[in-house]
Amino acid sequence: MQTQLLPWQQSQWQQLLLQWQQQRLPHALLLQGQMGLGKQNFANYLSQFILCQDPNKIDKACDQCHACRLFLAYNHPDFFRITPTKKQELIKVEQIRQLIQDLTLTSPLGGYTIAYIHPAQSMNTAAFNSLLKTLEEPTPKTLLILVSDTSKPLPATIVSRCQPLLFAPPSQSLGLQWLRQQSRHPQDVLLLKLAAGSPLLALELSETEQLNLRTQLFADCLAVMQGQGNIVKVAEVWAETYLKLSLFWLLSWFRDMVALKLQVAEGQVINCDQIQSLQSFASQLNFIQLYQCIDQIMQTQQLFTTHTTINKTMILEQLFIGLQQTIVEVEVE
Ligand SMILES: [Zn+2]
Repeated sequence: MQTQLLPWQQSQWQQLLLQWQQQRLPHALLLQGQMGLGKQNFANYLSQFILCQDPNKIDKACDQCHACRLFLAYNHPDFFRITPTKKQELIKVEQIRQLIQDLTLTSPLGGYTIAYIHPAQSMNTAAFNSLLKTLEEPTPKTLLILVSDTSKPLPATIVSRCQPLLFAPPSQSLGLQWLRQQSRHPQDVLLLKLAAGSPLLALELSETEQLNLRTQLFADCLAVMQGQGNIVKVAEVWAETYLKLSLFWLLSWFRDMVALKLQVAEGQVINCDQIQSLQSFASQLNFIQLYQCIDQIMQTQQLFTTHTTINKTMILEQLFIGLQQTIVEVEVE
């Protein structure tokens, strides 16, 4: 494992470093922010630093001591990583119960015990309730790090017992500077926009076939909206893809159409490579239609966030039918 502090995480890091130096680290941290900002990197960096046994460390783990070597080899006995098991997309209550038991044991290396829970919103109610007891009666030298993207709110009882640490997208220039150090993609400005300003997500997009897929999804979307595409087939393809991102893009197309109708500066349009198609489609629609479509997409996003086990294809079919009807109905009137 490589732990690394990203350039846009300095203020969060300085805040925690000061708390650590003053020996007033909280018992629980809640790292929040949209996906692709490196919250996991941050949690790893912080954990390795706290666990590092070098007495002279100042603001960085030494990478050399016994604890650092164990941590970097994913083998530190006082670091517990709780994530959903692969097939099931929820963190189960059994995992939390086991964690609580592990946290009560004395640390083999005599330092901090750290539990990392990601994504925190994938815990179910039973898991949250179980975790709550630990948050209410924390053991000394124990740190819980909960990581969450902002799509689904966590229970207030959990949030109120954690110190929040917010992560926002960096400025476009800082994001691009970092992205250009990692990749020499010719469309880096577009990538960063498509990733809603998240540099790690932009990098992921540059390395995968996601951009080609987006072009395909855009063509599918236009066909469906014009009553030509096969909704069932398109829904099947979308359900198989990076669904969260696809819906984000779908939403961004409609938002861009609103922006284009309002004649905003082209720099504010996210899908700057598709302006012509978007403009021509937007000219056939009115604001009511566009806003109704945006509402439907956002409701679908919410549905996928709150229900992880629903039939994705069916929900997407319903969304596409809804969009199609919205567009056709108002045209007829
Ligand atoms: Zn060390």
